[in-house]
Amino acid sequence: MTSPSSTETRDISENLAAVQAQIKNAALAAGRDPDSITLNAVSKTHPKDRILQALKTGHRVFGENRVQEANDKWPSLKQAFPDSELHLIGPLQTNKAKQAMMLFDVIETLDRPKLARALATQAETLGHVPRLYVQVNTGEEPQKAGILPEEADQFIASCKNEFQLPIEGVMCIPPVDEEPSLHFTLLREIALRNGLPVLSMGMSADFEIAVRFGATHVRVGTAIFGPREDFRETPQQ
Ligand SMILES: *Cc1c(COP(=O)(O)O)cnc(C)c1O
Repeated sequence: MTSPSSTETRDISENLAAVQAQIKNAALAAGRDPDSITLNAVSKTHPKDRILQALKTGHRVFGENRVQEANDKWPSLKQAFPDSELHLIGPLQTNKAKQAMMLFDVIETLDRPKLARALATQAETLGHVPRLYVQVNTGEEPQKAGILPEEADQFIASCKNEFQLPIEGVMCIPPVDEEPSLHFTLLREIALRNGLPVLSMGMSADFEIAVRFGATHVRVGTAIFGPREDFRETPQQ
């Protein structure tokens, strides 16, 4: 992995190219097609001008973790780059479901029946629903969002059948101090047995491992945009 000091001094287009090259090499080493992996550039806490730099290189897939922050930054960027694709990767409160559905192309953090119901209700009035991934709390951490692994199959089934929601995949954030490959393996098993094609897993520190374990989407922030200010790291929304 690149050190924070080098990501600070190099520009965003160089960082993007370096991460894409690492993804490609990890894919080829694992016997996978590099084009089967999408790089989600996580732009949370970073200002619009830095995101614009990434958009100008041709990059189009981005992740934000707060609805309000995304709403402040993205409407004008989306107008300028209509083919950009924005993913919500942070927790979603039901009272922000509608706003999130109007702003994001993909919501990666569907993790509870109450939210599934809110999205389904709004889908009827909006006549549109973003693509959805179910977040799984693979480490069963009490403070972390996500459906528990043993409840995942039933939850995914009810999202599809009861709520008619377009579930494309699953996502996880492994515990910081554990071997990520165990969590990536567990997430892949859940995706496989539920027939879901998308696996969103892997961040700056472990995206190459995630590629080896089958990630179709890696979410990389620091290695592209450099370090973030700590005070906005754990949002409550
Ligand atoms: C911030 C964040 C990332 C990116 O983390 P980095 O370590 O900066 O690459 C990925 N996924 C989620 C859910 C995040 O909140």
